Amino acid sequence: MTPGNSQRPLRVAIVGSGPAGFYAAGHLQKTRGLHAEIDVYERLPTPWGLLRAGVAPDHPDKKGVSRVFELIAAHPGLRWFGNVEVGRDVSLDALLGTYDAVILAHGAAAPRPPGLPGETLDGSVSAADFVSWYNAHPDAAHRQHDFSRSERAVVVGNGNVALDIARLLTLDPARLHETDIAAGALDALRSSRIREVLVLGRRGAEHAAFHNPELAELGHLPAVDVVVDTAELARVPPEAAADWARRRKLATLHDYAQRLRRHPRAIALRFGWQPLAVIDDGHGHVAGLQVATQAGEQRINAGLVVWAIGFEARPLAGVPNERPGGRLRHVSQRVAGLDRVYVTGWAARGPQGVIGSNKHCAQLAVDALLADLAGGCIDAAPRHSPNALLEEISQRGVELVRYRGWQRIDEQERDFGVASGRPRIKLDNREALLEVARGA
Ligand code: NAP
Repeated sequence: MTPGNSQRPLRVAIVGSGPAGFYAAGHLQKTRGLHAEIDVYERLPTPWGLLRAGVAPDHPDKKGVSRVFELIAAHPGLRWFGNVEVGRDVSLDALLGTYDAVILAHGAAAPRPPGLPGETLDGSVSAADFVSWYNAHPDAAHRQHDFSRSERAVVVGNGNVALDIARLLTLDPARLHETDIAAGALDALRSSRIREVLVLGRRGAEHAAFHNPELAELGHLPAVDVVVDTAELARVPPEAAADWARRRKLATLHDYAQRLRRHPRAIALRFGWQPLAVIDDGHGHVAGLQVATQAGEQRINAGLVVWAIGFEARPLAGVPNERPGGRLRHVSQRVAGLDRVYVTGWAARGPQGVIGSNKHCAQLAVDALLADLAGGCIDAAPRHSPNALLEEISQRGVELVRYRGWQRIDEQERDFGVASGRPRIKLDNREALLEVARGA
């Protein structure tokens, strides 16, 4: 007998409650004739993954999709369990002994190290940590970043994350106050001395990974200049670019290269600058970055170096992954060597694509699952009961947060925000999050 009907619903565990996980749940819910019971397991006491902990606070429009996920979460066939980490609090084997299928959607948000001398000095920071910090992720909120050492910061990398960080470091704190940026980050940035952010691409401008809307947005930041050296663009006129998207980016860069400097604050985009080593100030702190350029090696003095060079997936016990990168090994979303386990999102593709890219990727994972179901690869063998498994997890001392608990957190954060004229003030401490979730 095949599960998926009203007598014997298909039981699916989804690991991770970011966009990839919720889109997968939504696709299962929309599958005509399928009766599915979905349990979503989330490491944090809060849902939405990178929507909450990755999207830049000054881009609230990109977070609106959480309303779609709220509808998916409200579906009677879905339960959300926060504060439970698969691989630590419950094993993949236990999930497979309980559910008919498991969809891994745990992302790839760990730091990717540059592998260069000096990378661990104070003031040399991964984008993963920095972005988590300004977004009040409980694992990063305690970090201290010192913006008083120098008027210059360097962001290495030419992706959208590099531009997010450059914007955050130069935006007027009054504008940041209107966002949901972490309270600690807002305080630190208020007293920042940074006036210039150098964004370094190791290759030419024609290879930049950022998108044109994000590049063009820099040109509209109040009281911030965007500086581009015409000589570094000379090699590639816009019309010589390989495709339309690159032509538009090059045209925007050529436009910036014509502009005069008018403000004390600036974002300087440099191309063909390859980092070689982080320079020590003699006391274990960053003094700058040594780079190779076409004109030879040079030293950039700076007090902060942020490595926005991509992310890695955290290994999940019992699941084969690729090194470097951490992306899970899979064939058409079926995890290699494991039956009934599917993967979607950054854990499947690596750290690439915008929030919406996960919708299609999640559909692929659900399609693979449904094809296996139709092909008889997922049978209705009696399995452990999900409630018994959840009881076991609780008895091991794990405090499960239910969706109502997250709603309490959400309400509390918005209330705190109202009192300070901000959209929300995020709780950044796991204990505080759990306390509010309990509703005590
Ligand atoms: P990304 O787009 O892959 O960019 C990574 C950058 O790091 C590339 O320019 C790469 O250069 C450079 N890099 C890699 N290793 C390096 C090294 N060792 N030294 C110097 N540079 C190095 O990654 P991301 O910026 O982290 O973004 C991840 C994904 O999230 C992307 O798909 C992005 O579009 C998306 N995202 C979207 C938004 C938005 O929609 N606003 C915001 C944030 C993120 P090479 O090309 O030379 O390898």
